[in-house]
Amino acid sequence: MSRFLDLDVVTVDVDTDSLGTFAGEVERVGTPWETAVAKARLGMEASGRTLGLATEGSIGPDDTMPFLVADLELVVLVDDERGIVIGEGEVDYGIPTAAADVDISATSGLGVDSGLLERAGFPAHGLIVRPLSGIVGITKGIHDADELRRAMERCMRESGSNVVRIESDLRAHHHPTRRVVIARAAERLAERLARLCPSCRCPGWGVGRRSRGAPCSVCRSATRIVRSEQFVCASCPHEEEVPTDAAAGVDPQYCPRCNP
Ligand SMILES: [Zn+2]
Ligand SMILES: [Zn+2]
Repeated sequence: MSRFLDLDVVTVDVDTDSLGTFAGEVERVGTPWETAVAKARLGMEASGRTLGLATEGSIGPDDTMPFLVADLELVVLVDDERGIVIGEGEVDYGIPTAAADVDISATSGLGVDSGLLERAGFPAHGLIVRPLSGIVGITKGIHDADELRRAMERCMRESGSNVVRIESDLRAHHHPTRRVVIARAAERLAERLARLCPSCRCPGWGVGRRSRGAPCSVCRSATRIVRSEQFVCASCPHEEEVPTDAAAGVDPQYCPRCNP
């Protein structure tokens, strides 16, 4: 943050697991935005500051392309002096994730398919070993092969089943690729905070909505490409519509009429 703004980030040790966990022991009830704001508020309460910064990630099948895993990272700043909340997000479709149920009695010893480990980005990215249901015998944050074997043995012993589930540990401190995506979201937020509303000078001037419908350059039909961005202020009602480059016309490959 200090590269863009005159702000220093101080970490606060608070337990955010009550707001939801990736491994599913606690289900997240709020939207990602609400959860990020709640996390920021936990930090503000613990530190007694009026500014709070927090992130929240959502990882799962993409809405429009379900065969892709989307990692949506959100970073929010809560400013109680100005009474505003400003956030930015970043999405990535290439993060390493893997999950598989392994029948230990059917494999030779405790060998794990190397393809699975590769897809998970192991050992740089952590793994979780857990039983198929419940959390008895779960081990998280596994980063080496011996540890993985021990965790599988433990899970088998404590759950009483020969089948264990191996899955990515998606917590950011065990997933370096997520941290890169979070850093990109934080950079966008810092850039946004550095932009002031042209009307009231409040920080955080940035895109609030995008409108699709950029015209085809051949037949002028509306496409799904973004035609304009609506810049909004976090504090006052001032808004400005800014056309994108695509508003002048896009390649007919995106056109529902020229390329149905
Ligand atoms: Zn067309
Ligand atoms: Zn304003």
